[in-house]
Order: sequence, then structure tokens, then C-alpha cells
Amino acid sequence: EEKIKEYKRRSATFETASLATAPSFVTRQRLQKAIELQEFEVYFQAIHGVSENRVIALEALARWNHPEHGVLSPLYFIERLTRFELIYDFGNQIFEKAIKQLAAWRRNGARPDLSMSINVSVLQLRNPAFFRFIKSRIEHYEVPPECVQIEVTEENVQCDISTRQLRSITDFGIKLAIDDFGTGVSNFRRIVDIQVDSVKIDKSFLKDIKNPRSKDIFTPLVSLCKAMSPRTVVEGVETEEQRAFVESVGANAIQGFFYSRPAPAAEITIDTLK
Ligand code: C2E
Ligand code: MG
Ligand code: MG
Ligand code: MG
Repeated sequence: EEKIKEYKRRSATFETASLATAPSFVTRQRLQKAIELQEFEVYFQAIHGVSENRVIALEALARWNHPEHGVLSPLYFIERLTRFELIYDFGNQIFEKAIKQLAAWRRNGARPDLSMSINVSVLQLRNPAFFRFIKSRIEHYEVPPECVQIEVTEENVQCDISTRQLRSITDFGIKLAIDDFGTGVSNFRRIVDIQVDSVKIDKSFLKDIKNPRSKDIFTPLVSLCKAMSPRTVVEGVETEEQRAFVESVGANAIQGFFYSRPAPAAEITIDTLK
């Protein structure tokens, strides 16, 4: 009970949890059951375009609706799903739910260029069946591939995935985002070979923005990201002050609690997507 409380406190501050601290109820068997019972749900968080001044995309963020422990953050389960190699089935389920929801919003009058951004792990991307699956779902739900974006962390893009693997995805029309930029290892030469649509600057930079050095780094960081891709997204904008600062340094899009928290589809008003 204490451990779970501590876990919730930590996930509320979005610190990184290690396998060693994941609660003991998160076993392979229980995770397998959660997939079978469809206990994983997708929450959506708005990505706000600065020049458009509206929602341009939604990020799909997984939650575990645990019957006893409530709604659990990805800190509880992503690492273990990965270790137990359940991330494939989980990832397919999340992808399908997100695309199905995008199709529903499009039918209900969402802007035709609204896009859905989905996190994928390197294991999924390396699996040849993954591309076949996402292609089949995009066709099945009749959404344009251009409205679908895959988020891959900086580190994974740089080290673990071949240019050819990424090209099959971008050639089909799906967009690619580099996630958590600035926290991993970068090979800038590599980025020139990859067709990246957005770069998302990790929220840890803004957390520390009162520190003059962090602030000094932020401006050239945004310039670098803008040179690498058509769209620079800043994550973790919580206050009006941060919003104004981020806009003043030229970021193209903003994601953060200032605009909206991740929420279930039912809590998102269709008018905000029109
Ligand atoms: P991420 O992809 O970098 O997603 C952004 C995270 O920042 C989300 O945490 C979001 O709730 C949080 N966030 C957004 N705005 C703010 C803000 O203003 N302040 C603060 N403090 N936090 C903010 P969340 O939903 O807990 O997800 C954590 C991570 O779990 C994600 O980071 C992503 O790496 C991973 N994840 C989530 N869903 C999936 C999934 O379906 N598949 C995979 N492979 N990973 C996922
Ligand atoms: Mg992401
Ligand atoms: Mg991120
Ligand atoms: Mg992250």
C-alpha cells in the first residue's frame, strides 16, 4: 500500500521509474491479462499550433485502467511490457484504439488535417510485422497516412533503427517525430538522412528555465530543432510565462498542462478539434 502511494506520488511528478521500483502486482501474467481484457486505454493530449492558434494534433498516451489500483501511468507498465516482450500486442492495441478514435472524430467533423501522434518503442519499429499492421489499420479506418505520426525517442532513432526501416514508414506517408529531444545521444549527421516532421523538446528543459543557463541553452536548441524539421514542439508548458517564453523563441507548437492534460476521448469536446 505504501509502495503504491509512493509510486503514485512519483508518477505525478513524471520522474523516471526503474524496473526495480515498479510495484509487485505488475507481473508478466497480470500484464498479459490486462492486454486480453483490454484494460489499457488511450488518453489524448492536445498539441497546440502557435501560428494556427488551435489544436493541430493529439498525442495518444496509454493508461492502465486497473480494477483495484485505478488509472495507472505508463511508468507502471511500459518497461515491464518491454522486458516481457508484450509491447508488441500492447502497442498494436494502442495504435488501433488511437486510429479508431481519430476516424470517429473525423466523422464527427474534426478538421481533415488533424493528426494523431502515437508513441512506439524501438522493438515495435524493428519488427517487420509492425509496419504491415499499422498500414492495415490506417487503410481499414480510412484515415490518411499523413494524419498519423509515430513518436520515437531521440536515442532510438539515432542508434537502433535503420534508415531503411524508417523510410518504409515515411514513404507510406506516415510522419515521424523525434521525442524527448535533448535528453539522449545525438548523431546530427544521421538526422540529415531521416525524414523528420517534428522534433519534440523534452519537458525537463522547461522545468529548469529559471536557471539562466537553461534559458540560454533553450533558444539555440529551438533553432537547431527548426533546422532539423519543419515543426518544433515544446513539451511541458504549464504556465502562461512558459508559453510566452516558448513562443518568443520561435517554437511552432506547444504541448502541456497549460493547454490541456491528457484526457479520455469522451472528455474532449469535438469543437476544439474543428
Ligand atoms: P512522452 O511521449 O514524452 O509523453 C509526454 C508526457 O509528458 C506524458 O506523460 C504527458 O502526460 C506529460 N506531460 C504533458 N504535458 C505536461 C506538462 O505540462 N507538465 C508535465 N509535468 N508533464 C506533462 P505520460 O502520459 O505519463 O507518459 C509518459 C511516457 O510514457 C511518454 O512520454 C512515453 O514515452 C511513454 N508512453 C505513453 N504511452 C505510450 C505508448 O502507448 N507506447 C509507448 N511505447 N510509450 C508510451
Ligand atoms: Mg511522446
Ligand atoms: Mg516526450
Ligand atoms: Mg518522455
